[in-house]
Amino acid sequence: MSHKSLISSHEWDAIEKIVSDVNSGKITAIELVEKSLKLIEDSKEYNAIISVTEERAKKRAEEVDAKIKSGMNAGKLAGVPFIAKDNFLAFGGETTAASNILRGFEAPYQATAIEKLEAEGAILVAKANLDAFAHGGSTENSDFGTTLNPVDSTRVAGGSSGGSVASVTLGLAPFSLGTDTGGSVREPASFCGVVGYKPTYGLVSRYGVVAMASSTDVIGPIANTVEDVAYVLDVLAGRDSKDSTTIDRELSYVLSGSLQNTAHIAHRVGVVKEFLGDGVDKEVREVVQDAADQLKKSGVEIVEVSIPSIDLALACYYIIVPAEVSSNLSRYDGQRYGFSKPDAVELEDSYNESRAIGFNPENKRRIMIGTYVLSSGYYDAYYKKAALLRTKLINEVNKAFEKVDFLVGPVAPTIAPKVGENASDPLKMYLLDIMTVPVNLCGVPAISVPCGSAKGMPVGLQIIAPMRKDKELLEFAKYYEGVRK
Ligand code: GLN
Repeated sequence: MSHKSLISSHEWDAIEKIVSDVNSGKITAIELVEKSLKLIEDSKEYNAIISVTEERAKKRAEEVDAKIKSGMNAGKLAGVPFIAKDNFLAFGGETTAASNILRGFEAPYQATAIEKLEAEGAILVAKANLDAFAHGGSTENSDFGTTLNPVDSTRVAGGSSGGSVASVTLGLAPFSLGTDTGGSVREPASFCGVVGYKPTYGLVSRYGVVAMASSTDVIGPIANTVEDVAYVLDVLAGRDSKDSTTIDRELSYVLSGSLQNTAHIAHRVGVVKEFLGDGVDKEVREVVQDAADQLKKSGVEIVEVSIPSIDLALACYYIIVPAEVSSNLSRYDGQRYGFSKPDAVELEDSYNESRAIGFNPENKRRIMIGTYVLSSGYYDAYYKKAALLRTKLINEVNKAFEKVDFLVGPVAPTIAPKVGENASDPLKMYLLDIMTVPVNLCGVPAISVPCGSAKGMPVGLQIIAPMRKDKELLEFAKYYEGVRK
């Protein structure tokens, strides 16, 4: 299998350019969709895709082309093919969340995110692989097999949005959608060398997305550049009456202006001290230090910042998230969605047997931990303590942001692991999340931008901003792309 170039392939122009070419008649939506479908067919060995939505995609492309021919406005994303993680309810085939328990389930309605993209003329061409129910960091917990890393296929693409991220790295579509509950957009983006964005909690509606942990779940766009990610966010962001956690948006997230002019937006950037300790591979640390040095040379003030509670964030996350998972997965009872054990005698047996067969070991582990930490005898010792710690962490992060505009550090402690390296050791797998989960617990926005390589594999720089400073963060990330060598 070939090793692709380190930092994303360039099968596609910038999204804004594609849209302008579609509008000017230089290329048609159907040509774009066919190109995407062909690339998907040719990249099957990476297992990035669970299903293609060919028939519906072609029909929609024809509609977009007809609109343009008749001089109508076909939208901000006219004709742009995209791929969504298979935990977004979407028409055109099954929605599986990569779990056996959802096999056979067809969504009766679409996620708000998909609806918004479609309303602007974007075309869903395929549904991407993930760890079942987004539980994991490598797609090795998928019931549909592991997604391989396009840069080195002996390694994982990361997870849980591994299929969405590998799709962009392989150039199957100009952008994709993932979800980030504890790092699932940023971690694979770091491992595969593309840009992955986790917006402020509530900025993008989660209506119609298979819930993992409702207090941290967010939807995030993945693309080749910060500019493309911002362009897609501009379509996704905003209030939705169907998701009561959604918040107001900025007028626009589209980035414009020259890079030099954005230097003033970051007066001071804090390198998180706890993120550069022994738990992080030396090579990864060096690449991230280099990135900070480049920012410094460009005129940004770099200071060291300590957030002591960050060391406990992983433990806190792996109490709070399983608690919410155990509740969110209770709806899969073998009666309402997807798989049902055919020969169960009593209703009670049908519940038990459908769940026993349908959920995989990692799903079950989380259900068991979650129900345990919520049970009456243990609630105070675990869940309540974790909730208190979460507040302490939020306070410390807010305090840090009184002194700096952004925080930076690595995304993950290592490069992409080899396939199978962590698969049998859940704790080792959880440790990959050590620098991404604090962000989700706080709800703040963060991005992974390629910043170099270690042992021939991509490494992402994580940039974190205060709540609702998404626009500023994207501007600064674009500025960083400009100073990156
Ligand atoms: N790897 C993390 C976990 O397994 C994050 C998952 C996610 O963001 N969906 O919980």
